[in-house]
Amino acid sequence: MTEFDGDGTRCVQGGHPAPEAGAPFLSGPVLAAPYHLGGADRVGGADFYGRAGNPTWRALEKAVGDLDGGQCVLFPSGMSAISTLLRVLLSPGDAVVLPGDGYYATRQFVREELAEYDLDVREVPTPGPWPDDVFDGARLVLLETPSNPGMDVCDIAELARRAHEARAFVAVDNTTATPLGQRPLELGADAVLASDTKALSGHSDLLLGHVSVRDEEFVHALIRARTLSGAVPGPFETWLAHRSMGTLDLRLSRQAENARALVEALRDHPGVSDLRWPGSPDDPSHELASTQMRRWGGVFRFRLAGAEKVAEFVRRSALVAGATSFGGIHSTVDRRAQWGDPVPEGFVRFSAGCEDTADLVADVLAALG
Ligand SMILES: *Cc1c(COP(=O)(O)O)cnc(C)c1O
Repeated sequence: MTEFDGDGTRCVQGGHPAPEAGAPFLSGPVLAAPYHLGGADRVGGADFYGRAGNPTWRALEKAVGDLDGGQCVLFPSGMSAISTLLRVLLSPGDAVVLPGDGYYATRQFVREELAEYDLDVREVPTPGPWPDDVFDGARLVLLETPSNPGMDVCDIAELARRAHEARAFVAVDNTTATPLGQRPLELGADAVLASDTKALSGHSDLLLGHVSVRDEEFVHALIRARTLSGAVPGPFETWLAHRSMGTLDLRLSRQAENARALVEALRDHPGVSDLRWPGSPDDPSHELASTQMRRWGGVFRFRLAGAEKVAEFVRRSALVAGATSFGGIHSTVDRRAQWGDPVPEGFVRFSAGCEDTADLVADVLAALG
């Protein structure tokens, strides 16, 4: 049989069983705490307990892992994926390099929840500069590109090469890009992780996360940590995410088309500054992003005059909701300073949804006044 590998085909087919007469395309969630053992004692490799394994997880793990180019281990949220990876990798006293401008809860977790590890935490903003000595003796280098919320980009292949020279483990938070937008494992990273709460599931109705790696032993270490910590994904959320992933290619296309149209429309708007979207040919990160990204997403950022201007914009808009998170089918804005991100008061992250492009542009321009 021919192997088709277009994005849309892989999203529709990924992790689905071979067609069988009378069976559904994607069977429903398997809801089980214990499973029948097959006798008094467990028979063969059958599932035995819901914290250790679930066929609904494995179906989505197959789909996402195939796209990432590794083996995927699902977690109940993006933070659960990140915190498990950190706990599996790090020992007290280790040095760890984090994106100083990336997802704030990652830094907070390392500084507050892992405080007793007494880690040597080195924060580097995504666009750099990346001095050589930042990698010296580091156990882990975590990259996030494009970064949330700044949408800055760093060179995954180059930084992985330098980090590997220092014998560090390289992980990339790929949430904003999704596995359709970027494949960090192919660029030399040891692990890719993401919050699938965002575009991968894309309907703003569930939390989920994953880590994909190529090293078999590391897969088992992650599964073991998941089983023993007990932070496991719900089968229903997992199934919903798998069902939603079928339209990831379509959603991403519309979101990127909407982002492009909005960025065009806002470029010369007198009330808008600091507009950044890596998909724009004139964006400072465009050239680098084009070398490592396969396609663009729908998240961009800009700045209005202050918090009140953002509030007024949301009030006047009929289509754009104020909401944190991004990547869903609805267009949303998030004023990041309210959550403590080190950005100006009027800084907004805009997540373009799947609305009609002309409607969205007209609404945003009307709301900005
Ligand atoms: C949202 C997000 C996370 C955390 O994911 P949750 O699913 O909310 O736990 C991690 N990294 C990035 C870049 C994110 O945007």
